[in-house]
Amino acid sequence: MTVRMAIQKSGRLTDESIALLRACGLSIAAPSGRLRVPVPEVPLEILYLRDDDIVDYVQSGVADVGLLGANVVHEANATPLIVRHLGFARCRLSIAVPREADYDGPSWLHGKRIATSYPTLVRSFLDHHAVESDLHRISGSVEIAPAIGLADAVCDLVSSGATLLSNGLREVETVFESEAVLIASPSIDTERQAIIDRVLFRLDSVLRAQRLRYILLNVPNAKLDAVSAILPGLSSPTIMPLARPGWSSVHSVIRVDGYWDVIDQLALLGAEGILVTPIETVVP
Ligand code: ATP
Ligand code: ZN
Repeated sequence: MTVRMAIQKSGRLTDESIALLRACGLSIAAPSGRLRVPVPEVPLEILYLRDDDIVDYVQSGVADVGLLGANVVHEANATPLIVRHLGFARCRLSIAVPREADYDGPSWLHGKRIATSYPTLVRSFLDHHAVESDLHRISGSVEIAPAIGLADAVCDLVSSGATLLSNGLREVETVFESEAVLIASPSIDTERQAIIDRVLFRLDSVLRAQRLRYILLNVPNAKLDAVSAILPGLSSPTIMPLARPGWSSVHSVIRVDGYWDVIDQLALLGAEGILVTPIETVVP
């Protein structure tokens, strides 16, 4: 009994997918000639595939789980399969128009030609705005379509926006915000589900840890209550006396978003020697 997990063979998702699984204590061999690679720690086999094929493999039960961009899952209308959001490969599907276009809102797109690899997602954006455009589905190099006269606008994946800019395009609308997700087949037997649950337990511990930081600081005893109040942590903070009279060492866990604000407040209260370090795993 083995669970099959499909991940991208070579592309933007590959390195981070492998890194995440390795952080879960799974020895994942990098894709070489072999497309099926067993994992020694759990009854799991990695299938290296093109990302476009992963939804079909999981939907049909050839693979039990798969790791790919939410954009591909939504484009395939397969959102019920999503079981976890993984927080990497963040990007957005955006509409872009030639820099000099007099774009003044979605109605500008009415009657225009839009080149995209994501016709379903673009169509639902246009329907939402009651706009009808002529969609041209192309599978790659979408951003050159306006320059060669194939389209008036494009809808493509963007992270920094540099590719659009260098092709004389301007980003005007966000159609979809994406990140990597884990999908699971709707028909998994209990034995396979038990194996998947073991992997999910590790995955959740790693994802939780990525959102948190461990913090250590030295605090004058008179300020301990005030400091504890802004460091809720997973449980209450650990407080230990320092050799320096009147001072204590405080250890806690803080959320990664906005942690600079917390550090500013701690410094204002007179905390010293503030150390913040990453955490590898959190099992609550
Ligand atoms: P494959 O050969 O497997 O079909 P691909 O060329 O379709 O690969 P990649 O370019 O490797 O796909 O992108 C895979 C995924 O990475 C995208 O579907 C998207 O979820 C994500 N991604 C993150 N940032 C970007 C970006 N700036 N441009 C394109 N995709 C991005
Ligand atoms: Zn692809």
